[in-house]
Amino acid sequence: MSTFPDEIDEETLNSGAEGFTATQVFVKNPACVGMTYDDLIVMPGHIGFGVGDVDVSSMLTKNIKLEAPFVSSPMDTVTEHKMAITMALQGGIGIIHSNMGPEQQAAEVTRVKKYKNGFILDPVCLSPESTLKDILILKEKLKFSSFPVTDTGKMGGKLLGIISGRDSAFIEDVSVKVSEFMTVRSDLTCAHEGDSLDEANLILKKSKKGKLPVVNDNEELVGLVARADIQKNTENPLASKDSVNKQLLCGASIGTRPDDKIRAGLLAAAGVNVIVVDSSQGDSLYQIEMIKYLKATHPEVDVIGGNVVTPSQAHSLIKAGADGLRVGMGIGSICTTQEVCAVGRAQASAVYHVSKYAAKFGIPVIADGGIKSTGHITKALLLGAGCVMMGSMLAGTDEAPGEYFYQDGVRLKRYRGMGSIEAMKDGGEKRYVWDTACTQVKVAQGVSGSVTDKGTLLRYIPYLMQGIRHGLQDAGIKSVTTGRERLYNGKLRFEIRSPAAQKEGGVHGLHSYQKRLY
Ligand code: GDP
Ligand code: 5GP
Repeated sequence: MSTFPDEIDEETLNSGAEGFTATQVFVKNPACVGMTYDDLIVMPGHIGFGVGDVDVSSMLTKNIKLEAPFVSSPMDTVTEHKMAITMALQGGIGIIHSNMGPEQQAAEVTRVKKYKNGFILDPVCLSPESTLKDILILKEKLKFSSFPVTDTGKMGGKLLGIISGRDSAFIEDVSVKVSEFMTVRSDLTCAHEGDSLDEANLILKKSKKGKLPVVNDNEELVGLVARADIQKNTENPLASKDSVNKQLLCGASIGTRPDDKIRAGLLAAAGVNVIVVDSSQGDSLYQIEMIKYLKATHPEVDVIGGNVVTPSQAHSLIKAGADGLRVGMGIGSICTTQEVCAVGRAQASAVYHVSKYAAKFGIPVIADGGIKSTGHITKALLLGAGCVMMGSMLAGTDEAPGEYFYQDGVRLKRYRGMGSIEAMKDGGEKRYVWDTACTQVKVAQGVSGSVTDKGTLLRYIPYLMQGIRHGLQDAGIKSVTTGRERLYNGKLRFEIRSPAAQKEGGVHGLHSYQKRLY
């Protein structure tokens, strides 16, 4: 009696019965077609683990790993500080758009960086001579109400006391001096320079206070710890934060003009972790020069170059020093580049080819644009992308800039391309108009529209995460890294879907239906 084989035989495996490798689909395919997410379907694998065991953490750049592989796009209807804070709290990252003045953009970054801390190394301080009026102005601007008081009014001065929200709550005369109502040093619990963050948090918990000043041997203030941050830490275990002072990670975009170097300087001073050089066609001498400048001047900031869709474009930017690449040209939901300029590439082909080339040098790729579902995100990751960047998927959430409005009874938010006439009028033309001196006509490469209400990111991002966990589990893949290995060793299999198969893969044949995402 013959024994049942452990595995299926090589002949069946390679006959097409199990689907086709990425090389067969993208390289050996004689049809010369560019393919996108909907053209492909991933073959199922063996599930040997629970959905909760799937690890979706992945690389954004050479140096930055995210627990959730999601990036919000630098667009003025998508990412300002509110979006960037919530993205980072959930394990992703937001890239603050540059359709605003450089100082304003740096202030947006500051709001993200100030949101959550370990040791606050630059706490805003008061002097004993400051007044209640000064406090009220600071409170309004900074949205917190506790301030250490030092003899110099600055960090590093001798600690004299602290002002908290409660100290100032019932005083009516705004000219009253801080020294008259602060909680004085002798009544304060402090940590000592050299204490670890865990030790400081323990002292803070025991003291039941809201703030813990940190002093050195000379009684000079060297830091501050906030109880609110311990809470934010436990509530957001996946948060993207830097290892030094535990602040949330934040990105920002710039253009490739000479004055963008000044913008980059302000962003770096505000503590930005990643700068995205924003061009629709990234392989230009302007961008190469900008990347070299950024790497030489702000080596602590990672640089993402783009956009690119071919290995040779990627080569130029990696050579210039890019730590990550943004892939996608003319495929965004609001985009008319392929129609207007006739240049671009179908997104699945672009992601596969650029990721494969960049992987040789350890450079991660962000699949930017064209994401319409969790299935698209899973496909982007399985085609080699480290992360996905989303515009329209995130634009209708509470955290996106702008107010909701109703049209035909539907709750909507505005969403527009940065190359739309409307956005260019507000300053966004840098990405799409190269030389204003010789350009009399602004050629739009995007449209302005609206998207439906998606509610808060606090529920939407966990939904996206769970969706891709299910996708990877169905493919028998336990982590993004394993997916990458199987992509390149040919074990991950795909099939191209005919138009009828694509139709079959969506909801069909119903008289009517309601689509609820979660
Ligand atoms: P407060 O009691 O009104 O001061 O505010 P909370 O303690 O509720 O929250 C303060 C938040 O602001 C914490 O997450 C801090 O990390 C953050 N923060 C950032 N910079 C500063 C600063 O200079 N001083 C204070 N007090 N908080 C800061
Ligand atoms: P979405 O997620 O909405 O499909 O695409 C968002 C991406 O489209 C952005 O991250 C950016 O790369 C790209 N994009 C934004 N505005 C424009 C535009 O006006 N024209 C073009 N061609 N692309 C745009």
